[in-house]
Amino acid sequence: MVKTYLIKYGEIFLKGKNRFIFEDALVRRVTEAVEKVDGNFKVHKYLSRIYVECKGDYDETELIDALKKVFGITAICPVRVLEDNGFDDLKEQIVKYVKEIHPEADFTFKMLCKRARKNYPLNSQEMNCSLGEVLLENYPNLKVDVHKPDVLITVEVREKIYVYSKSIPGPGGMPVGTAGKAMVLLSGGLDSPVAAYMISKRGVQIDAVYFHAPPYTSERAKEKVIDLAKIVSAYTGSIKLHVINFTEIQMAIYQKCPPDELTIIMRRYMMRIAEKLASESGCMGLVTGESIGQVASQTMQSLMCTNEVCTLPVYRPLIAFDKQDIVDIAEKIKTYDTSVLPYEDCCTIFVAEHPVTKPVPSVIEKHEHNLDDCIEEMFKKAVEEREIIDIR
Ligand code: ATP
Ligand code: MG
Repeated sequence: MVKTYLIKYGEIFLKGKNRFIFEDALVRRVTEAVEKVDGNFKVHKYLSRIYVECKGDYDETELIDALKKVFGITAICPVRVLEDNGFDDLKEQIVKYVKEIHPEADFTFKMLCKRARKNYPLNSQEMNCSLGEVLLENYPNLKVDVHKPDVLITVEVREKIYVYSKSIPGPGGMPVGTAGKAMVLLSGGLDSPVAAYMISKRGVQIDAVYFHAPPYTSERAKEKVIDLAKIVSAYTGSIKLHVINFTEIQMAIYQKCPPDELTIIMRRYMMRIAEKLASESGCMGLVTGESIGQVASQTMQSLMCTNEVCTLPVYRPLIAFDKQDIVDIAEKIKTYDTSVLPYEDCCTIFVAEHPVTKPVPSVIEKHEHNLDDCIEEMFKKAVEEREIIDIR
């Protein structure tokens, strides 16, 4: 037996003439998602509707889990596809359908019939009344509630007849790849993986860069970032992860710049390197996990100072989020447990006891000149010798 799921999408409907571009991208993302599930699936678009058809055996939970990670999907509805054998047959089929799908048969409902095929002998309203009536006759505990029904039974008359009454929420957002590409500064912390998820939810494809400082940060810390990238890639699609050896630059800053400015100068070099990688790989912006006031390097003054060194836009999806909001998303997308593993981070090792909270750009810039004799060489080397890991 073939089982079919209707894939519903939201905002794409607003796209006017470009709508097909978004729909086709969604079909591709859905196809990629089901390819990872054991089974025989066919994804197709028909009259602005996307369907997944499943032949033979498959694990429904696994399939739904995969679809729940595809941005652009607002709901997944298991549908019963019926041949059009006349309205009397449809009435019989609806009665059977309710018994099978809602065996308790004790709920309030509303019928929602739609006709894409206008030559169907009954109009939508007549169908609603007649199908509602036959259900009430057959199941004494059903009641109609047109305002707030427990169950909305939808019947769509197309070349065949599609019946559905269950709707599993999808993640929303826009299909990945419909909004260009950005470079995420991905650390092993809680915030940046969530930032990656959020930007990707708006359709942005992502690459990532991690600043590694061996031997001060261990291989385990790097593995943690790779693991986080893998978890996030279930939503974002494959990620090219650039691992920059940041030790030399960090040591130079440590030796030559004022201790309370270490973090901010380090952050500025991270941004400069990220921007270099971004422009080389066609990224249109940088993405960080910063949120106003979270730590000294994220006061508005610090953000201004960090921002100053980039010409590409810097997207900060978490800018107005409280930590708890971020934790909630991290738990939902399953990055939390990995993020809280206690491996050292390059920022925490070199951090001053009292970092500046109100850095002045001109002062920071002046102190950066202490690096003039070495930084260019180090910057070039860090970029050239980076490791690139394909995460999928
Ligand atoms: P996170 O939880 O994302 O690590 P954080 O609260 O620890 O963030 P910071 O350490 O100030 O905050 O970092 C701010 C942002 O800078 C991070 O969200 C991330 O985007 C980027 N960042 C920090 N450290 C690194 C790193 N080692 N590699 C790549 N990006 C980094
Ligand atoms: Mg961090």
